[in-house]
Amino acid sequence: MPPALLAARRPEPDFPEAGALPDPAGRSLLRFITCGSVDDGKSTLLGRLLWETGAVYEDQADALARDSERFGTDGKNRDYALLVDGLSAEREQGITIDVAYRYFATPRRAFIAADTPGHEQYTRNMATGASTADAAILLVDARKGVLPQTRRHSSIVSLVGVKDVILAINKMDLVGFDEAVFRRIESEYRALAARLGFRSIHALPLVARDGDTLTRHSGRMPWYGGPTLLDLLETLEPALPVDGRFYLPVQWVNRPNADFRGFSGTVASGQIRVGDPVTILPQGRASRIAEILTPEGARDAARGGDAVTVTLADETDVARGDVITVGHRPAHTSGTLTARLLVLGERVLAPGDRLLAKLGMATVPVRFETLAHELSVEDLSPQPARHLAMNGIGKAILRPEAPLFALPYDECKILGSFLLIDPTTHATLAMGIIEAVSSRSREASPQRSEDAHPRRARLQPSLRPERIRSAITTLLFAVAGFLLTGTLAGALILAALDGIGRPLLISLQERFWPVEKKPALSGAPEPGLDGGGI
Ligand code: GDP
Repeated sequence: MPPALLAARRPEPDFPEAGALPDPAGRSLLRFITCGSVDDGKSTLLGRLLWETGAVYEDQADALARDSERFGTDGKNRDYALLVDGLSAEREQGITIDVAYRYFATPRRAFIAADTPGHEQYTRNMATGASTADAAILLVDARKGVLPQTRRHSSIVSLVGVKDVILAINKMDLVGFDEAVFRRIESEYRALAARLGFRSIHALPLVARDGDTLTRHSGRMPWYGGPTLLDLLETLEPALPVDGRFYLPVQWVNRPNADFRGFSGTVASGQIRVGDPVTILPQGRASRIAEILTPEGARDAARGGDAVTVTLADETDVARGDVITVGHRPAHTSGTLTARLLVLGERVLAPGDRLLAKLGMATVPVRFETLAHELSVEDLSPQPARHLAMNGIGKAILRPEAPLFALPYDECKILGSFLLIDPTTHATLAMGIIEAVSSRSREASPQRSEDAHPRRARLQPSLRPERIRSAITTLLFAVAGFLLTGTLAGALILAALDGIGRPLLISLQERFWPVEKKPALSGAPEPGLDGGGI
């Protein structure tokens, strides 16, 4: 990377993870992510945006002028991509940075931009960057239109709950500023994204390199009368953070001596006050908050985002991974999680796999029960699939094999998302976003999932236990036939009688004397697999 740029880089301001912001000027905060394929112009767009909003220091500007001459891709002109590309170079050399966060502000609003690499192998970083974003700028090269990477990135931003998408159709200069090209790409994208449940999609024609439609309208595209990119960024209303019930995932049991026992962690959501009744999940033990402690001292209350240690009014057993919630709640029985999975690692995931799920502060074994579908990268439609490979996105049912308290992602991002981990190698395999949680206990489950989902049963017929049992019985009949008659023919006749006769008798019985199936036992219904979204 250009060394001069490294020298000029300023420390990034320390900004809160989420929620309300303590911006000294009282401005609201918008977090956004830029994504698209390599060379679509992400760095140029972000660099130029930083430049035009005055986020570039004087010495950085000098360095940019020098570096543009040496390394630039735009002749003697400033190459704005160099303002952010230093970080890309670091990433390519494998140096620490996964997602580069850029901070800038206008008089109306403060922004944090997550700049993520465009290569397919960096999907994990893109998903990480998107998971905290309010909006996504999706770049498309006007010459190339919508590409598989555009579809993949769209499904990932939808997966992690981003509701507003800005479709930045860039390099309009290379298609003669033609409105028809812009409209064609816009309508193709809108049709495609209809499945993804975005709240808004704004399409903009841009020349990121020259600044057209970035902060001002372009004289070269008078046919475009909509907002500029900065107008949009300044006015998009981020979806309100859900500040629901109080949940504190316990990260650490703080026990410095026999007299003190506190439970430390970061409040995932909601509020709590000293004296409030609480329940420890998943066990369902009840207690009351005795103290709320922070590095700055004791407090009366805590809210989402606060790092706290709480003590309880009685000797309640609490361990790392438990969740403290307000009020009285029953014990939580592990049911199934219906989740959208994005495969991040090289291991192919399939029903039957036994994995570890890390959710909040808990790590529990889970069984991959059912793969409902995989999203096609062609048109984002759900397609039947037997397994999910790297970068694949699909909807699955997982069954925790130990008590686990989880919530739908819409209710709580922290307790509604998880990582799947290989139990042997400890490699991260996938990320999951929970759509629904069933709290039905395993004993109460009326159906095995393979019966509930015949496609899966079809996919792995040879593994079904009843098939194995029936093959063994036929073999025993054959042996009996051979022992009784002493001939191979006798063995074959008896085996055939069993192999053909028994299924015939069973089908006759099912037809004329059907056995009534037991109704479902109590508990929440299995969450729908064909619901909206991905
Ligand atoms: P990234 O890989 O998506 O970050 O793409 P870059 O920002 O590095 O840009 C790739 C190339 O496209 C560079 O040579 C840029 O100068 C060029 N570029 C970016 N935006 C435009 C544009 O609007 N018009 C033209 N003609 N070139 C552009």
